[in-house]
Order: sequence, then C-alpha cells, then structure tokens
Amino acid sequence: MGSHHRAICHCGFESSVRVGGNRSTYLEKSYFPFYCKDHGLISVNYVGPIECTFCQSKDIHQYGKLPISIEEERWPTLQSFDYKAYSKGNLCPVCKQYTMVFKGADILCD
Ligand SMILES: [Zn+2]
Ligand SMILES: [Zn+2]
Repeated sequence: MGSHHRAICHCGFESSVRVGGNRSTYLEKSYFPFYCKDHGLISVNYVGPIECTFCQSKDIHQYGKLPISIEEERWPTLQSFDYKAYSKGNLCPVCKQYTMVFKGADILCD
C-alpha cells in the first residue's frame, strides 16, 4: 500500500517521496509529502503530529492543496486515504515556481 514517487522540476530539482505506509504499521506510520519553508519537500508521518521532521515546525503545508499546489486534476497522482496530490502545479522548494511534477509510482512497497 505504500509507494515511492519521484518529484522533479525543470530547474534540476529531483527528489523521491514516500506515500502511505506498509501493511503492518500504516496505522502508526503513513507518509505524505509536505512543504516546510525552511526544509522544502519533506515526507511527514501524518498519523503522528503534522510537523516538519527536521525543525518540528507545524507551519507546514500538504502537497495537493493551496497554497503550495495550484492545480487539481481529476485523478490524484499521489494518494493515501484522504491525502491527495496531483502531478502538476506544485511548488518547487528550489526555484519557488509551481513547476514541480510528481510522477506515478516507480517502486511499490508493502
Ligand atoms: Zn522544517
Ligand atoms: Zn524548480
């Protein structure tokens, strides 16, 4: 039920993001990409407190929603329960444009 995805931007930024959790621990650990203004694209365990893994800031935003994602498509590219994000129109942590793209899962993990 978990998957790894790539996030890429034409400025050269590339990262991998983890979505969901594994079959035995997803009730305690399930991940979704968020944005921290100091740490950029981060994977947050949304079952726990929603905060940045690095600075514990709670001032972080889920990808897939305003203000860091500006496009909504019919089908989400990333989804874990009610958390959804779409392929295009995502804020890039490097160039700060809404040009980051999420790719479909390339690795499934359970
Ligand atoms: Zn942070
Ligand atoms: Zn960029």
